[in-house]
Amino acid sequence: MADFVAAIDHGTTSTRCMIFGHDGREVGRAQTEHRQIMPGPGLVEHDAAEIWANTEQVIVEALRTCELTAGDLAAVGLANQRETTVVWDRHTGEPYSNALVWQDTRTDHIAAALDRDQRGDVIRHRAGLPPAPYFAGGKLQWLLENVDGLREAAEAGDALFGTTDSWLLWHLTGGVDGGQHVTDVTNASRTMMMDLETLDWDEELVGFFGVPRSMLPTIRPSSHAEAYGSTRGDGPFGGEVRIGGVLGDQQAAMVGQVCLEAGEAKNTYGTGNFLLLNTGHELTRSKNGLLTTVCYQFGEDRPVYALEGSIAVTGSAVQWLRDQLKIIRGAEDSETLAREVDDAAGIYFVPAFSGLFAPHWRSDARGAIVGLSRFHTGAHIARATLEAICYQSCDVVSAMELDSGVHLEVLKVDGGVTANDLCMQIQADTLGVEVSRPQVAETTALGAAYAAGLAVGFWSSTEELRENWHEDRHWTPAITAEQRQAGHAGWQKAVSRTLDWVSV
Ligand code: ADP
Repeated sequence: MADFVAAIDHGTTSTRCMIFGHDGREVGRAQTEHRQIMPGPGLVEHDAAEIWANTEQVIVEALRTCELTAGDLAAVGLANQRETTVVWDRHTGEPYSNALVWQDTRTDHIAAALDRDQRGDVIRHRAGLPPAPYFAGGKLQWLLENVDGLREAAEAGDALFGTTDSWLLWHLTGGVDGGQHVTDVTNASRTMMMDLETLDWDEELVGFFGVPRSMLPTIRPSSHAEAYGSTRGDGPFGGEVRIGGVLGDQQAAMVGQVCLEAGEAKNTYGTGNFLLLNTGHELTRSKNGLLTTVCYQFGEDRPVYALEGSIAVTGSAVQWLRDQLKIIRGAEDSETLAREVDDAAGIYFVPAFSGLFAPHWRSDARGAIVGLSRFHTGAHIARATLEAICYQSCDVVSAMELDSGVHLEVLKVDGGVTANDLCMQIQADTLGVEVSRPQVAETTALGAAYAAGLAVGFWSSTEELRENWHEDRHWTPAITAEQRQAGHAGWQKAVSRTLDWVSV
């Protein structure tokens, strides 16, 4: 009997394989981190071969831990870090270079050039995205222009492009031996090359980046029994399992949080923060610095869209305290250290390490800690870091309310940082709304499992998924409106100090 669904959640810092039962509870998992390769300021790369090797390893380990085999699995789903760009040789399976990670800023001049003429507005309208180094199209253009021999290989039809979903799907379905070159609509909607209405590559947009059409994967729905084929018997699952669902990680978290009705929203606190609002079948174009993106497409149904506020640096600012400043030993110490003080004593930390994403979209910004005096300590910096995570989210919520007219009653949260109770209290305080965390913290993996399980009938309806959602804890605002306003005013002033720092 196939009583379980497996999910591969390949994130920015680690890859995990999780097994879920019908009640949406985790049965077991395996996880491993991959290297963050940072050859210079603003440059962030991953080794795609390492990512595939880690994926194989966590699949094998998760099945072994749970004492399961491929025959116990009804389906497998995949969620992945979005935008990170891989190019590889279809004959050898070798990547042509390291993958360019979504945080990498080397393509800021490509994005800036798009905005110097009409192309920027065409991208905004058709792809729903403001030109930014964040998205895959510019990264692919950079690789084509800078990796020796890549353009020739692409023009000869030997080179394939994919975000990491395509890379992993190609391997899972056979690699050089008949691997499928596919992607899902949510991942494709992050390239600046897909038309949000037709859900297909747009010739004109593809042309802006000089990309040969033969490099591009076929775009498929996010949940579909026939769209992705099956894993291979000689692969890490050791048998054939249908791949039923593929979603970008943030869209997967929407599904895992069961934000399946227009007006429902969640905020994921990982390396960066990603707040998404389901806008139903309506394409809402942002006037306030948000992205329009595909939330998911189930089967042959019309797609569901979302407004998204992406924030580049949140949990990774905590990593920075740990790895670069070395004022904490583990991410969880950020809470202990920040609790040593009652507030940040007037300092603000704007972690604009990769420029500022939503709602500002300023690639000329760089990070700053402002308001320092000799009095301040590491504890104040830790506190200011947690506050920065929350203020950035508040800015995105304000933009979302303006764009959609939806007033948020409660914010559903998930992701690594939500283990930090102090940070979640600060979020409720700064936002002035309830914050609610579900029992299953791994909403990204769960969403991938849901998409896969729905496709094969393991779950019969989204109602079943809704019944699986249970709250773990919630936080209620505990400061006055005046305190909130004063905090926000300081934050806005701090943000203004980081702008126009580098020229692009
Ligand atoms: P991703 O999927 O982007 O790799 P995760 O959801 O696994 O991210 O979250 C990892 C991030 O959460 C890291 O950046 C880490 O610094 C941060 N983090 C983990 N635990 C805590 C904590 N207790 N307090 C603050 N940040 C934390």
